[in-house]
Amino acid sequence: MVRAFRHELAAQRVSLGLGNLAEVAEEAARFGPGFVVASSDRDSVASRVAQLVGAGEGDRFLRAAQHTPIAVTEEALAVLGRRSPSCIVSVGGGSATGLAKALALRSGLPVVAVPTTYAGSEMTSILGQTDAARKWTLRDEAVRPRAVVYDAELTCGLPPRSSAASGLNALAHAVEAFWARDASPVLLLLAEEAVRVLTEALPAVVADGADTGARLDALYGAYLAGTCLGACEMALHHRICHVLGGRYELPHAETHAVVLPQVAALYAATAPVGPLGRALGCDPAALGPTLFDLLGRLGLPRSLTELGLPPGAVGEAVSLVVAAGGYTPVEAGPAELGALLARAATGAPPPGA
Ligand code: NAD
Repeated sequence: MVRAFRHELAAQRVSLGLGNLAEVAEEAARFGPGFVVASSDRDSVASRVAQLVGAGEGDRFLRAAQHTPIAVTEEALAVLGRRSPSCIVSVGGGSATGLAKALALRSGLPVVAVPTTYAGSEMTSILGQTDAARKWTLRDEAVRPRAVVYDAELTCGLPPRSSAASGLNALAHAVEAFWARDASPVLLLLAEEAVRVLTEALPAVVADGADTGARLDALYGAYLAGTCLGACEMALHHRICHVLGGRYELPHAETHAVVLPQVAALYAATAPVGPLGRALGCDPAALGPTLFDLLGRLGLPRSLTELGLPPGAVGEAVSLVVAAGGYTPVEAGPAELGALLARAATGAPPPGA
C-alpha cells in the first residue's frame, strides 16, 4: 500500500537534447533581453548564448566563482544595475547557476539556465552563499530557474575528472533523497532512475568524453537528481559538504564524491534501502563500499587530504557540522562523525558488508 504523500511540482520548463542550445533564445524571449553570467573560462560559450538571448557586450558578467561568494555577487549586481535586462541567463556549472540565483534573489529577475556540468542546481530553489569562511543556504522560489536548456554537446569538453566528480555530486542528491522524510514515492522513482542512469553513464563518459550518448544519459541523470535535491530535504551528507566547502574552500564536486561513500555507509548500516541497492546492483548494506569502489573506477580521489583539508581539521569540522544542526536520518553524534570524517580525510574505505 502506498503511503500518504505530498508532491509539489515546480513550474519549470525543461528541454534536454543534443545540439539544442538555440532553444535558449526562445526561452529567454518569453521574458526579454538577457544578462549572461558564467565563469571566466566559459567565455566562448557565453558569447554564443549572449548572441542568442540578445545580450550586448555590457550585459555579461563572466566571473562566477565556486560557493557563490557575496563579494562577487555584489560586483555582478553593480554591473546589472547599470543595465536593464529582463532575465538572467546562466551558462556553465553550479557556480554560474549560483550567481544567477543570487542576482535573481536581489533583483527579482527570472533565471534561464544552461547547465554544462551535473551539479543539478538548476532544478532547485536552493541558494548557497559564502562569506568570511562560512557557507549558508536558503530556499526561495524566486531563485529557481524558470527554464532550463540541457544541451549535452556543451558537456563534451568537461574533463574526465570534473565529469566524474560532478556526476558524484548529482548521485549524492539522489542517494540522500532515499532517507529524506518528505520524499514522495514519485520522487523516489526519480531518485532510483537517477542512480541507475548515472552509475551506468559515468564510466562511459570518463572512458570517452566525446561519447554523446553517454553524455546525454549523464545529463538526464543529473536532471533527475537535481529534481530530487529541489523537492526534498537534504541531510547529513549535504551538511558535511557545505561545512567543508565553506570553511576550508574544498572543491565542491570532489568533496561530495569523497564524502558520499562514508555517509552512505553510516545510513545503510542502520537503515538500508532496498530500491537504492537495486539501482546500484548491490546488497543495500554494502552501499558505502560499492560507492567507494565506483570512485576508484572513475579515477577520483578518495581522501579529503588530497583535496586540501588541512592536517588536524577533523575535530573542528565535526564541531561545525554538529553546530549546523538539522535533520540526520540515523544516530550520528560527535564520535560517529569523527570516525566518518577521519576515514574521509585519509581515504580509508567505509565499513559495510
Ligand atoms: P563549477 O560551476 O565551479 O565548474 C567548475 C569548472 O568547470 C569551472 O571553471 C567551469 O567554468 C568549468 N566548466 C563548467 N562546465 C564546463 C564544460 N562543459 N566544459 C569545460 N569546463 C566546464 O562547478 P560545479 O561543480 O558545477 O558547481 C559547484 C557550485 O555549484 C558550488 O558553488 C555549489 O555550492 C553549487 N551547487 C548548488 C546547488 C544548489 O542547488 N544550490 C546544487 C549543486 C551545486
